[in-house]
Amino acid sequence: MGLRCEKSPVPFLCREPVVEQCAYCGKHFCMQHGHFDKACCKSPACLSVYKRDRAIAERRRWEDERQAIGQERNNIGLCSQPECPNGMYVTCGHCEQLYCSLHLKRYNFSFVTHTRRGSTRVKGDIVLCEVCLPYLDDYKRDRYE
Ligand SMILES: [Zn+2]
Ligand SMILES: [Zn+2]
Ligand SMILES: [Zn+2]
Ligand SMILES: [Zn+2]
Repeated sequence: MGLRCEKSPVPFLCREPVVEQCAYCGKHFCMQHGHFDKACCKSPACLSVYKRDRAIAERRRWEDERQAIGQERNNIGLCSQPECPNGMYVTCGHCEQLYCSLHLKRYNFSFVTHTRRGSTRVKGDIVLCEVCLPYLDDYKRDRYE
């Protein structure tokens, strides 16, 4: 027996040819009972994971784009921020691109390192550009050794 659509209201009763497998739950579905273009079935749980994945992928694509633009601008001596007329001044502590003083900010953070001997609070600061700001949370995270 070949593969049957598993996503019809009554599973396995659907006779349509299977066109895709859901990337999240692994169920096979026909053209009618799933999103072929998304490789995702119609269950709300799978769709929400799909949406989250797509948001992450879009964010990554945007970051790559900004990196490429910034690199070109830095090559000619300009701040990485698109359309900024200023020269470069400081390096972003995360992506290492160069920005003018308006387009970077210094952030203070502290985290706790836990070792077998006890815990120590470590304080630091980092200069970040707008693109890298979400990564500040990574610097604040406690560390375990
Ligand atoms: Zn699914
Ligand atoms: Zn079906
Ligand atoms: Zn950056
Ligand atoms: Zn700038």
